[in-house]
Amino acid sequence: MIPQDFLYPEFEVVRNPVKCINCRICERECANEVHRYDAHTKSMVSDDAQCVNCHRCVALCPTHALKIVQSDHTFRENANWSGQTIKEVYKQAGSGGVLLSSMGNPKDLPVYWDKILLNASQVTNPSIDPLREPMETKTFLGKKNIVIERDAQGRLVNNLPPQLELSTPLVFSAMSYGSISYNAHASLARAAKTLGIFYNTGEGGLHEDFYPYGTNTIVQVASGRFGVHKDYLEAGAAIEIKMGQGAKPGIGGHLPGAKIVGDISKTRMIPMGTDAISPAPHHDIYSIEDLRQLVFSLKEATDYRKPIIVKIAAVHNAAAIASGIARSGADIIAIDGFRGGTGAAPTRIRDNVGIPIELALASVDQRLREEGIRNNVSLLVAGSIRSSADVVKAIALGADACYLGTATALALGCHLCRSCQTGRCNWGIATQRPDLVKRLNPDVGYQRLVNLITAWTHEIKEIMGGMGINSIEALRGNRLMLRGIDLNEKELSILGIKYAGE
Ligand code: SF4
Ligand code: SF4
Repeated sequence: MIPQDFLYPEFEVVRNPVKCINCRICERECANEVHRYDAHTKSMVSDDAQCVNCHRCVALCPTHALKIVQSDHTFRENANWSGQTIKEVYKQAGSGGVLLSSMGNPKDLPVYWDKILLNASQVTNPSIDPLREPMETKTFLGKKNIVIERDAQGRLVNNLPPQLELSTPLVFSAMSYGSISYNAHASLARAAKTLGIFYNTGEGGLHEDFYPYGTNTIVQVASGRFGVHKDYLEAGAAIEIKMGQGAKPGIGGHLPGAKIVGDISKTRMIPMGTDAISPAPHHDIYSIEDLRQLVFSLKEATDYRKPIIVKIAAVHNAAAIASGIARSGADIIAIDGFRGGTGAAPTRIRDNVGIPIELALASVDQRLREEGIRNNVSLLVAGSIRSSADVVKAIALGADACYLGTATALALGCHLCRSCQTGRCNWGIATQRPDLVKRLNPDVGYQRLVNLITAWTHEIKEIMGGMGINSIEALRGNRLMLRGIDLNEKELSILGIKYAGE
């Protein structure tokens, strides 16, 4: 290999020698082998080049002797050739390979959630106190009937197609067993059950230990069809066909053979050590008619008892694609924006392909309404939903519920070091190394997820109460509650909202 050693480390480990007691905890805790005890000098030394700034050592150092700082080394950069760009060219000149990254798009592109402001009641249509009055956050995902039917006695005829009932409009995003650890899945499954929401298997199949959580599980069918069999389809409350993913629209997935070990190989139904490659397209889907066949094959296989979700990446023509999907027989459309996280993606794809979820959601909702087919499907949106305020804005823009991925990982202890692709997650989330996996205590992970969703649900109720709205149903698509700031006419028109002050 051609050496790349002339790249200066991105981070520097700063150790306070007065505070350091040479306990070597940092050495034991770092899977990247940054810290080492030097017997010669009888002190700890660091290899800055290996540091990914995951903060494991900083968090566990008993004397607070450590901090990690961004290196202030600079290239001879300019407005066109940033230091990052120069460094990436050096890396590729050394490796000859595609640059890989993880988590979401870090580029300084507009975050529309931050340019949308919410309304509140003042005098007329008074606000509601969520502590004293009932607030309904229950949400049903699935196809709705356009007309209400009654029998001869005038009673409602309950002939709704199958629905997912959520206690609050939040769902844990697809994260496969393999890309994240057993303990992370255990935390998600238990929390989803307690909360009355759902988690999503991703494309890695369902570990046999988690079948008891099936009533709160969305099972995914992706292009690789890993781990898909009759019992798997039967186990979930809903089935998601993954056509695309926000972090890497238009391409497939790749879990290296080194990660296909033990139960992961068994759950995915592929031999140990084999690369798990999901093709970019489903090899049997080249049109909406083909997609319809798969939707109905899955419905047929499960006796029409489970809603079918079709997940797409947010791309230029998302509205037209969604219009086709709404006619394909699918019950729910999941749209994943370009900031969505991932365990590994080619950097150039992650950072340059796809569009913001806010624009995709608004255009999809608008198109489905214009075509009179909005009730054919529910809309689940994903791609960096960061807070309860983002959730409220998404629902007012037309979503029925939101998928949470990165926020979920953060609740489990992720420090956004953005190096999941290495498999050496020091927090036990994006790893399969047994010594690292056990660092994530599933009891703690479970409780932190329950806390997060509980807190967000309280905040959602508070914000809705402030608007004088007492149910998610009344908030959905209520764009009158939104105003734009720092947006141009075109952006306001796509979002379908007025400017602040109007
Ligand atoms: S964990 Fe802290 S005190 Fe212990 S060796 Fe590392 S820097 Fe020193
Ligand atoms: S999951 Fe782990 S490796 Fe990935 S960004 Fe978070 S802390 Fe880093």
